Amino acid sequence: MTIRVLKFGGSSLATPARVERVVGLVDTERGQGPVAVVVSALGKSTDWLVTALDAASLGDTVQMNAAVNAFAQIALANELDKTTETEVRRLIATVLGQLEAVCVLGEASLRTRDRILSAGELVSVQVVASRLRANHLTAQPVDARQWLVTDGRHGEARVAIAESTVQLHALRDRWADDIPVVTGFIARTREGHTTTLGRNGSDYSATLLAAGLSASEVQIWSDVSGVMTADPRIVADATPLTHLSYDEALELATFGASVLHPRTILPLLETGILLRIRNTLDPDSAGTRVDAAGGNDETRATSVTSLEAQALIDVQLQTLDAGPRIAERVHRAVQETTETVWLATHSAHGQAMSIVVPEVVAQAVKAAIETALALEIDRGELKPISVHGPVSLLTLVGEAMGRTPNVAGQLFSALGRVGINVRTIGQSASARSISCVVDSAVLPLAVRTVHTAFHLTHRRASILLLGKGIVGGALLGQIAEQVQMLREQHDVEPVVVGLADRTRALFDPHGITAGTETERLASMPQAAGAWGPVTEAMLDELATLPVPILVDCTASDTLAPLYKAAWQRGIHVVAANKKPLTLSLADVADLRATARRSHSDWRYETTVGAALPVIDTLQHLVRTGDSVTRIQGSLSGTLGYLCDELSAGVPLGDAVRTAKRLGFTEPRPQEDLAGTDAARKALILARELGLQLEMSDVVIEPLVPAELLDIDDVDTFLAALDTHTALAEQVAANRRDGKVLRYIATVDPNATPKLHVGPVAVTEGHPAYSLRGPASMVAFSSRRYPDEPLVVQGAGAGGEVTAAGVLADILRLAMTNDTNPVNID
Ligand code: ADP
Ligand code: ASP
Ligand code: MG
Repeated sequence: MTIRVLKFGGSSLATPARVERVVGLVDTERGQGPVAVVVSALGKSTDWLVTALDAASLGDTVQMNAAVNAFAQIALANELDKTTETEVRRLIATVLGQLEAVCVLGEASLRTRDRILSAGELVSVQVVASRLRANHLTAQPVDARQWLVTDGRHGEARVAIAESTVQLHALRDRWADDIPVVTGFIARTREGHTTTLGRNGSDYSATLLAAGLSASEVQIWSDVSGVMTADPRIVADATPLTHLSYDEALELATFGASVLHPRTILPLLETGILLRIRNTLDPDSAGTRVDAAGGNDETRATSVTSLEAQALIDVQLQTLDAGPRIAERVHRAVQETTETVWLATHSAHGQAMSIVVPEVVAQAVKAAIETALALEIDRGELKPISVHGPVSLLTLVGEAMGRTPNVAGQLFSALGRVGINVRTIGQSASARSISCVVDSAVLPLAVRTVHTAFHLTHRRASILLLGKGIVGGALLGQIAEQVQMLREQHDVEPVVVGLADRTRALFDPHGITAGTETERLASMPQAAGAWGPVTEAMLDELATLPVPILVDCTASDTLAPLYKAAWQRGIHVVAANKKPLTLSLADVADLRATARRSHSDWRYETTVGAALPVIDTLQHLVRTGDSVTRIQGSLSGTLGYLCDELSAGVPLGDAVRTAKRLGFTEPRPQEDLAGTDAARKALILARELGLQLEMSDVVIEPLVPAELLDIDDVDTFLAALDTHTALAEQVAANRRDGKVLRYIATVDPNATPKLHVGPVAVTEGHPAYSLRGPASMVAFSSRRYPDEPLVVQGAGAGGEVTAAGVLADILRLAMTNDTNPVNID
């Protein structure tokens, strides 16, 4: 049966309890066939050795001894057999002796450094083999220096594969049936000096061993459930990828996904050995499979990764249109330094160049370039070479990206919308990745933004909700109720990050807990700034979150400046509030222009007919070139309800009280009975149709006489309605003629007035005749619908339906609009 290689990283071996887990896992895997084990140093041992070495170089023996002690404790915390303990103590004493020598010299060569760092893995194999034996698994520690041969590039040695394989085959026979526990990370030169493969190098050791042993599989066990869509330390909701191709994994590891050493994949490319990344802390999770075929999602980017501590070097001639071409010489000079160049771009004629190199070598690279361009510098032809850092290289990786149009456009528009300046860009030759350089200070925001923009996680909408009244309150309830279903079934997650009423605001970018937000809001201090309690800082923070949306569930007429401030930051607006839409033509044009300039959206489907698709239907007719000749609608759910109740003989005062209690009225029912609310909706529809009309152009016939409507106090007004009987008498008369009373809005571009709202007695056959309760109806007559109008009809008022419509607007934004905002007009 072919052997499998199991590699356990430092994180899997950080404590005795974790070591025991590893022993259990080896036992289980061993039950299914032969295994070889590769281990890293325990926990943060290598970091402690680096600290000790740095301290030694500075002659700081106190710090040096403390670090060695920390290193020793990690190992000695495990229960060890006598022989092993003696060996471990000997190794620690040896490293201490080497460090003391460094202390005396005041410096360490790279060769010495490798020798000292190798103690981590040498101790680790002793500990792990001892614990395996204590659990009745025959195991022996193996020093990889017995087989792994490299060149002399200390710190990042290159492996001589063929030679190493020969050595390995000779060594293998000595293991017989024992489980070999092999040191990761370390190797030796032909001369016998200790070398290392670079930080995280044990992953590479494991795949090298697997290739040398012709293993069927390598398992890299870590503290994450696989390669994830982003570094989980930066993106809290990153998720594990189930299946990657070798090429994708290679690209990810190269560009900074520290879960794998960059060279890990190389030995697998030639041998086709399966790699699985698994989680010691959650061994039952599937982990990530990496093989030649990869996953089968043809359309998606797979992951975003980043490399920190880089610098951007800019080389530019004084003039770009003439003079010598420097790019080639700069390239050569940089190449001769043998430093890693992550990205290099140059202008068309080679007179300007940008290069990204690790920050630690930036000055050395700059000096090499200056030497190469000494002549131009002498002649004053070169601008001073600038070194900008720290910057980070952010890379989006995906097998299918090369076949997907406009990935770069989406990437940059997403970053631009949160105000991130992209310093330079590059696309890999494979077209499997696209990289850009951003300032390190904004890297976490950049990674999160890209992660969201490419749907690497649930699509998210970040909501700042204004108003917690009937509609706002219902919306909070609906979001709390549906969030899990939305996440699981539709991959979209609305998160309420802020809530504000007239005087108080609550904001938390992680989301405000469902259920307690109104109590928390009440305990906030009152604030009255330019936008009431909403502050600039809240908007600024909201703008950095995925698909930021300001949701207006108020009836306030002072929010236009807040809308503009939101759009200017790339925040969308979803409104159930009609007032901003019925400001003067000039003001609304200004609002729309602001939204358009900021590529932000203004959705307001619920301003007419609650959740009924009225605006959407009308916009569709207009967009597709139909010519709408007339709109007739029973637009006020309240007046519809009242008309229906009156027809059933209910006195007006009682009907209004019930409507108010059911949430069918505006806070002041006078506005409904005045017809103002219906008039506003009619105006919104008329303007959608392109009619340049003002509120004063709407001819309004109120349902009750104006004197009654002048009563300001709500209770007094309701009492006055009880004595107003004329309407009931009219209804009775209508009924005798076979007619029913309806409150109808008419938009007719060819009539005078163009806009009319008022009570109308309609006969059977009219689309409003059979309306029941607060149901709304809108009938569009058009060139395409000349005789039988296109009718939208249904429940058109009430907190729950309106909130459902608002939620639908929010979800539509989150699902379609996150990378490519669409304008509303
Ligand atoms: P080990 O000690 O097992 O070798 P490492 O710390 O070297 O573990 O690598 C695992 C860590 O890599 C994770 O804990 C995570 O913080 C980090 N990491 C960075 N990018 C990714 C990514 N794309 N997927 C998974 N882990 C990542
Ligand atoms: N122990 C080494 C390091 O910490 C190698 C490894 O963990 O893979 O970098
Ligand atoms: Mg590692």
